[in-house]
Amino acid sequence: MSAALQSASAELTARLGSAAVFNQPVQRMLYEYDGGVDTALPDLVVFPETREQLQFVVETAARYELLLVPRGAGTGLSGGAIARHGGILVALNRMRRILALDYANQRARVEPGVVNLELSNAAAPAGYYFAPDPSSQQACTIGGNVAENSGGPHTLAYGVTVNHVTGLEAILPDGRWISAGGAALDTAGPDIAGLLTGSEGTLAIVAAITVKLTRRPEAARTLLAIYDSIDAAAISVSAITSAGLIPAALEMLDGFTLRAVEDYIHAGYPRDSAAVLLIELEGLEEEVEPGMHAVRRLCLQAGAREVQLARDAEQRQRLWKGRKHAFGAAGRIAPSLYVMDGVIPRTRIAELLRAADEIARRYKIQLGNIFHAGDGNLHPLVFFDQRQPGELDRAVAASREIIAACAAVGGSISGEHGIGMEKDQLMPLIFSEDDLDFMHRIRAAFNPQGRLNPGKLLPEFRACRETMNSWQLNAPFSSSDSVVSPNV
Ligand SMILES: Cc1cc2nc3c(=O)[nH]c(=O)nc-3n(C[C@H](O)[C@H](O)[C@H](O)COP(=O)(O)OP(=O)(O)OC[C@H]3O[C@@H](n4cnc5c(N)ncnc54)[C@H](O)[C@@H]3O)c2cc1C
Repeated sequence: MSAALQSASAELTARLGSAAVFNQPVQRMLYEYDGGVDTALPDLVVFPETREQLQFVVETAARYELLLVPRGAGTGLSGGAIARHGGILVALNRMRRILALDYANQRARVEPGVVNLELSNAAAPAGYYFAPDPSSQQACTIGGNVAENSGGPHTLAYGVTVNHVTGLEAILPDGRWISAGGAALDTAGPDIAGLLTGSEGTLAIVAAITVKLTRRPEAARTLLAIYDSIDAAAISVSAITSAGLIPAALEMLDGFTLRAVEDYIHAGYPRDSAAVLLIELEGLEEEVEPGMHAVRRLCLQAGAREVQLARDAEQRQRLWKGRKHAFGAAGRIAPSLYVMDGVIPRTRIAELLRAADEIARRYKIQLGNIFHAGDGNLHPLVFFDQRQPGELDRAVAASREIIAACAAVGGSISGEHGIGMEKDQLMPLIFSEDDLDFMHRIRAAFNPQGRLNPGKLLPEFRACRETMNSWQLNAPFSSSDSVVSPNV
């Protein structure tokens, strides 16, 4: 450990206590992961519990010119919350107070470490909830949701996290505080809260968040449409949305994935089907009932074998439990799982799935598919065994080809899991050099030395390369870190 790190560690321990500073290798090793496939060991892990402690951590890092990486629950799937180049990992999961529940104005104010589902549970007695519902909502934090601009099955009708954030308070890497937005729907000046949302912890550390609370709908119905062909399921998706119907959720699981879910959760998905669509309609009773019949008719016309209606709340919950635990179910099949995230126009779903299948066969990997079909947000799952030499490389290479195929049909390289250190090199697939240069300049305005979450989101450190190299990083930048056309 460098002298600067040793001094910082001692000062942080004196101020926050030894239970809030992990400096031993065995403690730090627990934080070299998130939900993705990359790993990197932090030099220190620090757990501030209050805004004042967070400020002290940030100021200490600034004084010793140390790198800082914000972290919530570490469920991110793109390596955003790991210390790619070492430094101090700031774990925010002990800043977990719900500061205000204001039902009259439909707002909540929370600390960043509040777990997504805890906010909905807290607001449930009053008939409200927090609409963004990532499948990881039992564990992930609202700070992480903001940083990744997370979505979930209900994104189709309710939007992603940015549509539910009205105000943020955040600390810059030099220790100054900024406040963006508030409780009102709109504020004067540029939308800085919108800019921070989705910035993956590269601009500022978010310390308080004001979000909208959504009223629970009067009625909800869940349909399970069952298919003998994936193409028919894909056609149903565009048939539903082109008819002007917007279900609250429209999810698809292919045969391989739904069988894995059945083995684990017993959700009630027919094991002999090629795909299922899980469709939820919400709203007033008068609109949900006819909407449900219209969706059912469209699915049958597109080739569904059967469309079942969940008969009660218990069956509805079971169907959704299957979807929400699908990654866990998939994890039982192979020792390693790589969850991808790409976006395509929903009219291209069938075509893209065929392309993904061809790529998987070429790389000799097992692929499953589960996705937010209504938004065209695919999550191909690659099953592999990281212990076998070369398997990780094959999984990553196949994944990159699939993501490149998404970009090639006018889609995007991430729908909700972020870029992190997983896809920074793929950014040139969808952004021009000028676009990226502009993003670097925005980052430099917040984070001029590049000390906050380096090596994430943007593919190179043009503005701060020399400074970074002079800090004796774990992995100093080389010419291979510059913007390159990925080898896909
Ligand atoms: C089983 C499973 C299912 C998932 N399903 C979904 C899904 O349906 N939809 C979806 O969008 N994602 C999903 N994810 C991905 C992940 O859960 C989300 O990205 C989530 O928002 C990450 O929250 P976290 O608290 O775990 O953040 P972390 O993983 O700890 O961090 C994620 C990023 O946020 C930054 N960050 C964290 N806190 C702060 C803060 N306070 N200030 C600034 N930056 C911060 C980190 O630096 C990092 O870049 C899933 C993951 C798993 C494992």
